[in-house]
Amino acid sequence: MNRIRLLSEQVANQIAAGEVVERPASVVKELVENSLDAEAKKITVEIGAGGRSLIRITDDGIGMNRDDALLSLERHATSKIQKAEDLASIATMGFRGEALPSIASVSRFILTTRERDNDSPEATQIVINGGTIAEVKAAGSAAGTSIEVRQLFFNLPARRKFLRTEETEAAHIQHYLTLAALAFPEVAFTFVKDGRNIWQLPTVKSERAISSRIEALRERLRAMLGGEKLLPVNFSVALDTPDAIPDEADIFETASTEKPATTDGKSQLRIWGLIGSPGVSRATRESQFVFVNRRPVENRGINYALIEGYHNSLMKGRYPVCCLFLEMDPAAVDVNIHPSKREVKFHREFDIRKYTAQAVRDALLAFHTEPQATLAKTPSTPSAIQLAAELATPALPQFPEKLKPVAEPPKVPAQQTPLKMGFAPPASAPALVSNPAPPPPRPSATFHPPSSPATGAVPLLDVPMRMVGVIGKLYVVLESDRGLVLLDQHAAHERILFEQMMTRIESNAAAPSQKLLLPETVELPPRDAQFLREQLAVLTRLGVGLNEFGERTFLLDALPPFVKVPDARRFVFDLVDELRAAGREVNLARLGEHTVAKTVCRHAVKANDPLGGPELENLVEDLRRCAMPYTCPHGRPTLIEMNYRELEKKFGRIQ
Ligand code: ADP
Ligand code: MG
Repeated sequence: MNRIRLLSEQVANQIAAGEVVERPASVVKELVENSLDAEAKKITVEIGAGGRSLIRITDDGIGMNRDDALLSLERHATSKIQKAEDLASIATMGFRGEALPSIASVSRFILTTRERDNDSPEATQIVINGGTIAEVKAAGSAAGTSIEVRQLFFNLPARRKFLRTEETEAAHIQHYLTLAALAFPEVAFTFVKDGRNIWQLPTVKSERAISSRIEALRERLRAMLGGEKLLPVNFSVALDTPDAIPDEADIFETASTEKPATTDGKSQLRIWGLIGSPGVSRATRESQFVFVNRRPVENRGINYALIEGYHNSLMKGRYPVCCLFLEMDPAAVDVNIHPSKREVKFHREFDIRKYTAQAVRDALLAFHTEPQATLAKTPSTPSAIQLAAELATPALPQFPEKLKPVAEPPKVPAQQTPLKMGFAPPASAPALVSNPAPPPPRPSATFHPPSSPATGAVPLLDVPMRMVGVIGKLYVVLESDRGLVLLDQHAAHERILFEQMMTRIESNAAAPSQKLLLPETVELPPRDAQFLREQLAVLTRLGVGLNEFGERTFLLDALPPFVKVPDARRFVFDLVDELRAAGREVNLARLGEHTVAKTVCRHAVKANDPLGGPELENLVEDLRRCAMPYTCPHGRPTLIEMNYRELEKKFGRIQ
């Protein structure tokens, strides 16, 4: 007797469904992708009971005629690829031709579709129950396609049991829709959950130019997630051909944005989108959206690159807010790993990571160096949610005429010297208002006197400030024409030392190091000893002289001059603990240096007494010279601004 038989179409479909249709969200994903592939301009998604009882997707796309509609339900029927070679350059979302038959095999399914470019007003309706066609008929319907999926997995009780609560399934659906809506601002999305309208996102028009697409994305983000300070990213570089061998030495080298975008032997990588300004971060990765050729993806390398790009202006355990689009030759990326998973593999993993970090870094630097240009388009409506962000970023309040204080706050003349004010003795408070001799303002400073409302937002450090005094031996109180500014001198000092250290490393200069009069030996547990041994080279480059002095013993004989440790043993132990806590990062060459420098700087500051007068005077000026002055290397704010408007609110002068 022959033992091998072909599976029936229906069983084959159900097996495929096991792969394609994991949960209601995967049905929504497949159907929305089909609508997008069908050039829909408006997509409506309705769900009931987390998608268990109902999923209905309606689009105004190209639709199908009767023959195509029937064919679309056959396995491996697709209009999107014809030959195997096409697989290397898939531009559409779907391509397997499995989704519709799979979904129809595990639900009660109704497809209604009418071809857009067809004069016939007749639509086709196909009803399928658990994979069996029950009815094919003509129906009246608008052009486009509507697919209704009821009672998902009704014929597979085991699968149905695996579904989570309605809320969980609905959350997965909403998450997918968020991604789709971000990737396609030009498509209007409506999302209805259990009869309630969750979203109604209008079409956002955009041109082909990247700048226009960035603005469209900003608009869409605003409609979905509310306003937040976001910086534009626009980076492009020519990649070598995929088969070129990555050159280790080249990996951490700085990329040049000016590289010619040649096409011979090179393919273009473009990275664009929006990222949170420093201080805008989240406790999870949930506001981190990354797309490759418009598909939402997960890729660990990119996750690291984002953090690296923020150049330590993110607090530990915080994640960037971003919506980034990577565009590259489809042949340079493998999306075909798993039909419903989002992980991708890049052929040039190192390069992609390097350039992503670079793109983020460039955007943040542009923010610090060309504030006017970058921020002109940033909405500056303050909101409660923004508060945390405001604390860590240059606050950018407008100073509207009508909100001017009833009783004028002490006015600071426009020529007020920005710096080197020296200490104002606390006792002579009123005298603070009258100024010292005004040296010319910094040439780069853009200053708007209060009488003419600021046209562009001016970063805090570009505004002249005057030192008032120090409170709690730590916080420097400053005033500007906009209000009160508090500076955390430790955080600021840490940032300054950190950047000085990194500059030296990047220019390959040896960090300053001072021999200790009395070298100290430190014995570590075996595990820590091994770990420390791996960090020795970086530590030495950073001026920390630690040498092996036996299996588990190290000799500490030099430190950067600004680090004064009362207890060498503690210092080494702390160093090991902190570096270990920084985890994996340490193992990536570049981040390793950052992390070590960060840790060393922290010790420098911890060990220091409160800064003296002259040091304080230089602090603001040194901070201004930093690339990322508004946060310490651990991501905490260095400056907090409370403008007059906020003060008036607190004092009840205005609502
Ligand atoms: P795939 O998307 O991988 O091609 P599907 O099973 O998802 O396979 O869809 C099969 C075919 O049905 C598609 O190739 C497309 O031609 C057609 N189709 C599916 N959904 C729609 C839609 N919403 N509008 C127009 N055509 C559609
Ligand atoms: Mg499809």
